[in-house]
Amino acid sequence: MKSVRELRDLAWQRIKILLRLADNTIRSDEALARRYVELAFRIAAKARLRLPRSLKRRYCRRCKVPLVPGLTARVRIKGGEDGRLIVTCLRCGYVRRYPLRKRST
Ligand SMILES: [Zn+2]
Repeated sequence: MKSVRELRDLAWQRIKILLRLADNTIRSDEALARRYVELAFRIAAKARLRLPRSLKRRYCRRCKVPLVPGLTARVRIKGGEDGRLIVTCLRCGYVRRYPLRKRST
């Protein structure tokens, strides 16, 4: 019987492998890359792992495609005092906005 910790470690290993496969496949086979991401996210949900934000941002939340600027994603910076990073998925049109700076006041 494995401990929860061990199971989570195992899940995490699998997720890392799957996401690496997805990154390596995106340019040759998008459908397959998406399958890898779906699988990785499903494992994470099952193991109740919280993926780091930096990692989650690299995949479309809606269609699960790896977001590669110029290929599957459009990245824009909206300047100004309250700058934002705008990432648009070119496959499903999902738009995400990230503040570039944390509010200081
Ligand atoms: Zn998408």
